Amino acid sequence: MASAPSGTLVVGAGQAGLSLVTRLRDLGDDQAITLAGDEPAPPYERPLLSKTYLRGEHDRSSLFLREPGWFEAQQIDLVTGDEVVAIDRDAAGGTARTASGRSIGFARLALTTGAASRPIVVEGADLDGVVSLRSLTESDDLARRLRAARDVVVVGGGFIGLEVAASAQALGCRVTVVELTEHLMGRAVTPELSRFYRDAHERRGTTVVLGTGLARLDGRDGAVTAAVLTDGTLVAADVVVVGVGAAPRTRLASRLGLDVNPQGIVVDRQARTSDGVTVAAGDCAVGPNPFLRGLTGPTRLESVAHADDQSRTAAATLLGQNAAYDAVPWFWSDQGELRLQIAGLSMGADLSVLRGDPASETFSVLSFRGGLLIAAECVGASADYVAAKRGLEKGMTVDPDAAADLTVPLKRLLVPA
Ligand SMILES: Cc1cc2nc3c(=O)[nH]c(=O)nc-3n(C[C@H](O)[C@H](O)[C@H](O)COP(=O)(O)OP(=O)(O)OC[C@H]3O[C@@H](n4cnc5c(N)ncnc54)[C@H](O)[C@@H]3O)c2cc1C
Repeated sequence: MASAPSGTLVVGAGQAGLSLVTRLRDLGDDQAITLAGDEPAPPYERPLLSKTYLRGEHDRSSLFLREPGWFEAQQIDLVTGDEVVAIDRDAAGGTARTASGRSIGFARLALTTGAASRPIVVEGADLDGVVSLRSLTESDDLARRLRAARDVVVVGGGFIGLEVAASAQALGCRVTVVELTEHLMGRAVTPELSRFYRDAHERRGTTVVLGTGLARLDGRDGAVTAAVLTDGTLVAADVVVVGVGAAPRTRLASRLGLDVNPQGIVVDRQARTSDGVTVAAGDCAVGPNPFLRGLTGPTRLESVAHADDQSRTAAATLLGQNAAYDAVPWFWSDQGELRLQIAGLSMGADLSVLRGDPASETFSVLSFRGGLLIAAECVGASADYVAAKRGLEKGMTVDPDAAADLTVPLKRLLVPA
């Protein structure tokens, strides 16, 4: 029997969904909350899946974002392993149906459905040993395969592909990264940082092939044996990790008639979708760039910080409070022992200043537009990162001519913009 339409339903029990329900309780919401997820596990730290957890340096139980009793204590009904497959709603609320036939009534609805790994469309893509990495289940599977593998090919030189490459390298595999463009992490970082990472991975023994695509995958007895590149090179492979990005999961939003485009579920600064009552947040959503010093235009960010910040805004919106999402984006990526921390967004930069020597593997790249600091990419340089992030949050900048001077801590170079 369907439950009465009251309370809040949050579809997607990942980073954004958990932040959203946590915020609802923090804001004093005492109505029923259901957090519905299709994965078997309760919400967990996805970033570790390509890093310490993949390498076996982090135990499974410490991945989980909340203690086992937390949901009950907060009176949040956590549903796991049951996909929400249909939703009916009007302005007053509605009912959702799950794959197992469960019916969940709600007065308020949030979509935090995340993103799904993009597949590759080449001959051999369905061979055993060709995998992608998004979920805990996939990380467990990849960890098992890497321990038995000698040759690993990573298709796609983005953050996740490179983190997996570094982890596989650390586990003793021979690793080749194949990237279609001329730049690793090209969409998200400056050319200076991209070059540094190519050199750093190569120094550690990983082969990096740029400007080359994947033509097909060869196999024997149903299992992958080699990747054939578009230039004809054949690279031996026991495991092929496909890391060519993720597509927002928008099917439910489309069925609800919400505005959706290839970038995601369209939201406004309040995380409100086009029907004016449903909210969406995290990897599934595209909205105005929250970084007011950044480029204008629709932006979809894939990061823990973004999922958390946008969800908190979405929670406030659901409770009728006026909150706008305008956080300075930040991000980290651990590739082996190299820790990258990024504050701001470097897209649209017209000037980059190097602070420190990349050869030392401790340095920062500061990006400017129109003389204003817009981003700091810091490798092993946490003090620079913390200073830049705080500076950007306070609306400050750095004189580009002084920025390279390592004798002065970055925090002392910050001045009002
Ligand atoms: C391997 C990996 C490494 C990463 N490393 C970093 C990093 O170092 N730093 C960083 O900032 N970010 C990192 N990220 C990105 C970060 O994890 C994501 O941006 C963040 O998890 C987004 O949160 P989300 O809640 O929007 O999506 P998700 O965490 O993906 O959660 C969405 C959840 O909704 C579920 N779902 C979808 N549809 C339905 C449905 N119909 N019914 C029920 N459940 C549904 C999904 O299965 C999923 O569990 C990494 C991501 C991956 C995959």
